[in-house]
Formats: sequence, structure tokens, C-alpha cells
Amino acid sequence: MNATTDWNALSDEDFRLLVRQFFREQYPEHLRYPKTRLRWAQIRDWYLMLSKKGWLAPAWPVEYGGMGLSPAKLMIFTEEGERRGVARAPDMGITMVGPLLIQHGSEAQKAYYLPKILSGEHIWCQGYSEPNAGSDLASLRTEAVLDGEHFVVNGQKTWTTLAQDATHIFLLVRTDKSAKKQEGISFLLADMSTPGIERRPIRNLAGHEEFCECFFHDVRVPRENIVGELNRGWTIAKALLGFERIFLGSPKQSQYAIARLEELIVHRGLTADAAFMDAYARLKLDLLDHMALYERFADQVRRGETLGPDVSMLKIIGTENYQRIAQLMLEAAGSAAGLVGDVELDGESFDWLTSYYNSRPATIYGGANEIQRNILATQLLGLKS
Ligand SMILES: Cc1cc2nc3c(=O)[nH]c(=O)nc-3n(C[C@H](O)[C@H](O)[C@H](O)COP(=O)(O)OP(=O)(O)OC[C@H]3O[C@@H](n4cnc5c(N)ncnc54)[C@H](O)[C@@H]3O)c2cc1C
Repeated sequence: MNATTDWNALSDEDFRLLVRQFFREQYPEHLRYPKTRLRWAQIRDWYLMLSKKGWLAPAWPVEYGGMGLSPAKLMIFTEEGERRGVARAPDMGITMVGPLLIQHGSEAQKAYYLPKILSGEHIWCQGYSEPNAGSDLASLRTEAVLDGEHFVVNGQKTWTTLAQDATHIFLLVRTDKSAKKQEGISFLLADMSTPGIERRPIRNLAGHEEFCECFFHDVRVPRENIVGELNRGWTIAKALLGFERIFLGSPKQSQYAIARLEELIVHRGLTADAAFMDAYARLKLDLLDHMALYERFADQVRRGETLGPDVSMLKIIGTENYQRIAQLMLEAAGSAAGLVGDVELDGESFDWLTSYYNSRPATIYGGANEIQRNILATQLLGLKS
């Protein structure tokens, strides 16, 4: 089978087996369930292998070099990757910029950028958030002023995940200060090697540098790098956020964490502790509820339906359960809970703090849970904002 195979013609079961076998046999064992986001140098070979096989962009149409998977097949592809502990490659080019250009980009932008994403030549990062413009993204202040054939960009972005490894950034900029705040925003593509772009890594709670602050000092970006119309970037920006909504609510992280918790419970003889087991049983039941809810939304995606505002429930329930599971893992670890990394306990190795650290920002990124609650209150229950 090759890149021109019609994967959608396979039965779901056959496709699942094929994907499962590929991830089982080809994905490097030492990179399964990584503790942190992998850097480009670590994941590059895997990225290039997927690229060579034509499996890098499962959701892109075949004509642009993707697999052209139907929503149902895409769910299978994602589920099998998660099940085998396959790490996210630097995927903002694949999941965000690519689909965006396919929908809203000019022919020249598609012809230039898409092949370079697929070949691994261009690695993208997302420049949306700014200090004081996170949840209230439309308040962003980084500005771009037209000067002949260039925009001149000045300002600051923050929490830019893995900007260290990126060759390009897609960013929201203010191009009309006098318009209503959502209306004066444009969507720009910039090469990270342009003079005037400075990245400063930020260290997270676990001691890893997973994101950067990015500063723009008189950065000259060619005028043709705008996607869509001038001052009409907000609609595009919001459309992009829709792509990630179901994946942020996946129960996989919680399932993985609870499996580790169960090992720890047995190892520490906690099954005899009724109060502890009560707390554990509640979380296990909450996880089963979350899995059932996820299936409901996954079914909607499989049927090709768009998700409504109610999907916010999934993110809230999933991420808050995950935090509680990680918290209970620390309680199970007892006085050793503060030890970082792999900890030896009577001949077995455990790592509870990684899940704990990973669970903390989950309620913030991809739209903070408070904002998700606002969405449920206003759009679903019809309450006033
Ligand atoms: C691990 C991680 C990776 C990230 N990667 C990227 C990236 O690659 N690119 C990028 O652009 N951004 C990225 N972000 C930024 C992320 O999108 C923002 O952190 C998020 O949108 C929240 O914005 P903020 O941090 O400015 O918090 P704020 O908006 O300042 O919010 C602070 C607190 O106030 C609450 N709050 C704010 N407004 C309201 C309201 N109206 N009602 C009720 N409560 C409210 C929030 O929920 C939150 O609890 C990342 C964040 C994290 C944690």
C-alpha cells in the first residue's frame, strides 16, 4: 500500500489493525509515553518516517499530501496512537497551519508552505497568547503596521510552545487600532529567522523549557504572508481553535495515570485502607463517566457532525479528573511524594510527579476551564454573561 491508497475504503477494523501494527512495530520503544513534550531533535526521525510513509497529515486531503481520512478513520488513527503511547510530534504545522491554509490560504501560500510542512523543513509554533491577552485573546496588542510591501511587527507573545525548535510562527496581530477589538486583527505567517525576533525559553514547574516568550522588534514580514483579508483574522483564528476541542478532552492521560496509581496501590498495600480505596473508587467511577462522555462526542465526530458548545463539558470533566487522579497518586506515595523522577520502591520504579506536573496546566491551556464554564453558562444554559 502507498500514499495513493484509499484508506477510507478499508473496513474500520482492518484499518485499526493496520495502524495498530504500524505504531507497535515502527514507533521507537524509548519514546513511548514520554514524560515531557519531545524536542525536535528527539522526534525528528519519527516525523520523517511518517512523512516518508505519507502518514504525517492524516486529516489533510490526499491532493495536498495527506491521508484524506474520514472523521471516523481519523478517530481510529488518533486512538491507536494514544493507546501505544506515541508522542505528539511538533504538530502545529499539521493540525493548525496546514488545515488553515488549505481552507483560507492563497494558491501561492499553499504551494509554498504545505510541502515544507510535510518534508519537516518547516516547524511551526503558535503565537496567539500575550501578557494580558490569554482568555481575553481579542485584547492582544502586538501590532503590525504596513510599510510598503512589508508589515512591521512590534510586541510580545508568550507561552509559545516549543518556539525554540520552530522555524516559523503563525501569529495574531493588531492591524487596526481604531476598530472594535475583534475587527482590527490579522493573521500573519513569519519566518523565525527574520531579524528582530527574539525567543526566551520559560522553565515550567517540572524544570523543562517547554515554551518561550517571543519578542518582536521592528520585524519586517512580507505583505503576502497575511492569511485571509486584512483585519479579518479573528474568524480564522477562532476556526483554528475548534480543531483541538475533542482531543483536549480525551481520557487517555487519566487512563494512563490511573493505571500507574493502581500499580502503586498494590505495591504499597493500600487496598486494606478503606478511606483511601473509597477515594480511589470514586475517581475510577468518574473516569468511567468521562470515558462514556468522550465516546458520545467521538461518535458525533465519527458521524461527521460538528461539535457544539457542550463539548466544553468534556474538557472540564477530563482535566479536573486528571488532576484529582494525579493528586491521589501523591497521597499513595506518602512521604516519598516529593521525590522527582523515577523513584525506586522495594525494587520497583515509580514516577508520580510527572503526572502531577502534567495535570496542572491542563485546566488552563486550550481555553481555561473557567472560560469553558462561561461557554456552558451562556451558550448552553442561556444565562447572561
Ligand atoms: C502548557 C501551556 C502551553 C501553551 N501553549 C501556547 C501556545 O503554544 N501558543 C499560545 O498562543 N498560547 C499558549 N498557551 C497559552 C494559553 O492559551 C493561555 O494560558 C490560556 O488561554 C489562558 O490565558 P492566560 O494564561 O493569559 O490567563 P488569564 O486569561 O489571565 O486567566 C487567569 C485566570 O483568570 C480566569 N479568567 C480569565 N477571564 C475570565 C472570565 N471572563 N471569567 C472567569 N474567569 C476568567 C482564567 O480562567 C484563569 O483561571 C499555553 C498555555 C499553557 C499553560
